[in-house]
Formats: sequence, structure tokens, C-alpha cells
Amino acid sequence: MKNLQTKIVKEGIVLSESVLKVDSFLNHQVDPYLMKEMGETFANKFQSEGVTKVLTIESSGIAPGVMTSLSLHAPLIFARKRKSVTLTDELYTANVYSFTKKEENVISVSKKYLSPNDNVLIIDDFLANGQAALGLIKIIEEAGASLAGIGIVIEKAFQDGGKQLRDKGVRVESLARIKSLKNNIVHFVEEEVS
Ligand code: 5GP
Repeated sequence: MKNLQTKIVKEGIVLSESVLKVDSFLNHQVDPYLMKEMGETFANKFQSEGVTKVLTIESSGIAPGVMTSLSLHAPLIFARKRKSVTLTDELYTANVYSFTKKEENVISVSKKYLSPNDNVLIIDDFLANGQAALGLIKIIEEAGASLAGIGIVIEKAFQDGGKQLRDKGVRVESLARIKSLKNNIVHFVEEEVS
């Protein structure tokens, strides 16, 4: 998506050869117009899949997730990273190792919100080694629901999450695919920035 690539080039900060900081529009401050365009783009891609629920992880997946769910006319569920006192129902859980925080979290979704009748679209902000997506897939499988596909805002194509997921036969659509962050420069797999 051209506007996303332009934003990454203008505002993204390369923290290392493997980490990109995009706090100005996705991970801290949120650009609502860009989120809206991303939500519409994901919805167009998955329009014919019969999506009944959009699933993401708090907190950075919520903004693109909610815009996608709005365009697909389906509710958004965000998996929680820590037990909430208000989440007293039975939970589906998965262990997810966080690439950026270098710690393991238990993510959970209430059994109330996923059923075998659901066809679920996963949305997340970044795809690195695929741990977050695999955790969400485990939760969908536990619920007996089906997976419509995965929509990723920024895929770091030099890490192996995308390959792992596509090798499993999962449809992964990424709005920007980064080939390299070497020498503090963002190179995309498909350059759309003019
Ligand atoms: P994975 O589970 O695919 O290894 O990593 C994806 C998760 O880690 C995303 O949900 C995101 O929160 C975080 N993440 C991975 N790489 C980056 C990165 O380069 N920048 C930022 N801001 N977050 C990242």
C-alpha cells in the first residue's frame, strides 16, 4: 500500500537491523486516516471469504483491526496479554514469545466470543517470526473455528514468520513487506514509493 510505504519511509525509525519503530502512526500515536485506508484494503482483499470475526492482540493490533472489522461488518476480538479481573469466564489461551519484549506472554480470549461457526480473519501490526500469529491460530483451532487468513500491516520478509505461515497453507496478505533494514535504510520487497 503506497501511503503506508511513504509513511514508513518518512516517519519510521530503524532501531536495528531487525527492528523498525513506527510509534508516530501505529504503535503509540495512531493515524486514523491511514488506519481507515488499511482497514478498507484488508476488507477488499478478504471480502469474499465470509469473515465472521476479526481477531488481533492488544494493543497495537486494535487500531487496524477495528477499521478492518468495521469495513467487513464483523466484530473485532482482541486477545488479552494478561489476565483481567473482568475476564472470569473460561478462556482459550496460547503462549506467545514476544519478539520485541523478549518475554513470554499468555494470551487469552474468552470462550464466549469464538465458536465453531466462526470464520476468523487475523489482523496484526507486524509479522516477524510468526509467534503472535501462531498463538492466535492455536486459539482459533481450540475454538473449532476456521481461519480465513491473516492481514499484516508490516511484514519483515527477512524474518521467517511469513514463510512458516504460507508453508502451512495460510493466506497471508501484508500491506508493506520489508526486505531489509540494513544500514538504517528501509528497503521494500515491492517498492511502491515514487
Ligand atoms: P512475531 O510474533 O511475528 O515474532 O512478532 C510480531 C509481534 O512483535 C507484533 O505483534 C509486534 O507487536 C512485535 N514486533 C515484531 N517486530 C517488530 C518491529 O520491528 N517493530 C515493532 N514496532 N514491533 C514489532
